[in-house]
Amino acid sequence: MSSQPIVFHACSQTISADTWPVDAVLALFDMPFADLMLRAQQTHRQHFDPTEVELATLLSIKTGGCPEDCGYCPQAARYDTGVTAQKILPLDTVLQAARAAQAEGATRFCMGAAWREPKDRDLDNVEDMVREVKALGMETCVTLGMLAEHQAQRLKDAGLDYYNHNLDTAPEFYENIISTRDYQDRLDTLGRVRGAGIKVCSGGIVGMGETRLQRAGLIAQLANMSPYPESVPINHLVQVPGTPLYGQEALDPLEFVRTIAVARITMPKARVRLSAGRRQLGDAVQAMCFMAGANSIFYGDKLLTTGNPEVEEDRALLARLGLKARNAHSDARCEVIQ
Ligand code: SF4
Repeated sequence: MSSQPIVFHACSQTISADTWPVDAVLALFDMPFADLMLRAQQTHRQHFDPTEVELATLLSIKTGGCPEDCGYCPQAARYDTGVTAQKILPLDTVLQAARAAQAEGATRFCMGAAWREPKDRDLDNVEDMVREVKALGMETCVTLGMLAEHQAQRLKDAGLDYYNHNLDTAPEFYENIISTRDYQDRLDTLGRVRGAGIKVCSGGIVGMGETRLQRAGLIAQLANMSPYPESVPINHLVQVPGTPLYGQEALDPLEFVRTIAVARITMPKARVRLSAGRRQLGDAVQAMCFMAGANSIFYGDKLLTTGNPEVEEDRALLARLGLKARNAHSDARCEVIQ
């Protein structure tokens, strides 16, 4: 990142590009929409081909029965959401899904397990999955909850490319959403992932009742990591009956677009991913998100347990927008974040 000061025309505020105080991030959110979109576009085009979108497919390798209490999550055992706890999937099933995702054009395969943290014996299975999926020529990502240092190292040794662990929201709003682990636990896991040399995928969820200031707080937390995450999934809350956040007042879709734009500006070389909640956004809002600098989507019929636009719908939308799938080896310039 350049350390040249940047002058924001709209707010006449001068800040350094390599740290992002919350009020500076908030000033981005507060910009006139057209100015914010222009700035996000300019940033995006400096670092990426704006016509390319990364396709990542997510598979739940161990669904439900989670002891945590994340207020948005249908996999928490304590909420009555109709999700039944399952055992970890067999390797063959995972490989079949990975091959199918690859045939559909996905370059990254993400595997999620509903654990507070994995037991060491769980990792034996996950290591095999990582090795075998990687052998197909796909990038690998797993999300398994909190990790100990030796577990991060085991995953690195198995060849894992990315570890997903979201911050979810701003520190000030966090206790409204989760009580069974604290913010520092999340930061500690991300530190261990980085320490093991695994790339970081970390983002959050918007539309959970947080304020704009708290959305800015989330983005500032992510952007001020040193280095910031290589992948930043921005989720729109999917309201699932039975979870505490069901019935939450819906977020203005333009505020979601603003969040994408601010993530792009503050983390210029990251893959900013449209993740959960795309179905509610509709085509026009998704198109605005791509213009705001989103350049990755979760692709496939289902996210962990909630719906996702059908593959054919996604293909049609990308074609209508003149966007193409990222080739697995086409953006080495974006892989190293300094
Ligand atoms: S988000 Fe993850 S940790 Fe939280 S309840 Fe759901 S599966 Fe468990």
